[in-house]
Amino acid sequence: MRILLVEDDPDLTRQLKAALADADYAVDHAPDGEEALYLGENEPYDAVILDLGLPKMDGATVLERWRRASVTTPVLILTARGAWSEKVAGFDAGADDYLTKPFHTEELLARLRALLRRSAGHAAPSLACGALRLDPRAARASVNGEPLRLTSLEYRLLHYLMMHQGRVISRTELVEHLYDQDFDRDSNTIEVFVGRLRKKIGPDRIETVRGLGYRLIALEGEATEA
Ligand code: CA
Repeated sequence: MRILLVEDDPDLTRQLKAALADADYAVDHAPDGEEALYLGENEPYDAVILDLGLPKMDGATVLERWRRASVTTPVLILTARGAWSEKVAGFDAGADDYLTKPFHTEELLARLRALLRRSAGHAAPSLACGALRLDPRAARASVNGEPLRLTSLEYRLLHYLMMHQGRVISRTELVEHLYDQDFDRDSNTIEVFVGRLRKKIGPDRIETVRGLGYRLIALEGEATEA
C-alpha cells in the first residue's frame, strides 16, 4: 500500500512518516499544494493524508482539482481545531474522512485502515479478467504478474475489452471508442491491433465471434473476478 502524505509542518511530517513506515506503508511526501496536486494526479496512491493549510495551494483546492481530474483515491483530511468551515470545505471538495489536529497517531492509522478497507469494497480501481490485470490509474497492464509493453492503441483496446469483458464487441464499436475523430477510421485496422494484442496477452484470451466482433474471456481454470 502506497500513501501520499501532504503536510507542511516538518515535525508532524517526521512523526507521521515514521509511524506509516512502521505500519508497512510506502510513503511519499509532498510539503506543499502544488507538489501534492502533481503527485496525486500522476502516481497510483492507495490513500492520501492531506493537510488543508498548505503553502502554494490550499488542500481543499488540491482535492477539488483531483476529483475534477477523476482521481478517486480515498483522502483523509487534517484540519485545525475549531475550524468547522474547513471540514465542510474539505468534504465538499471530496474528502472521505477527517481528523482534527492534534490527534493520536494510533487514531490516524486506524482511520487509514478503515479507509483502505472501504475503498477495496467499492468498485475496484483496477480491472481483472483471469490472469489479466489492468490499472487505469497507472495505465499499466499485466498478465500473470508480468508487465505488458503495449502501445497506446493496444492499451486502449485492452482497456475497452476489459471494461466490457464477456460481451461481444463489434469492430464498429471499437473504432468509435478507440480513435479520436481525426483518426482515419478504417475498421480493418482493428483486426491488426487485435492480432498484435493477442501476441502479447495470449491468442485465446480474445475470441473472434464470426460476423459479430470480439470477446475478451478468462482462460479455463482461471478465477474470474470482474
Ligand atoms: Ca499546515
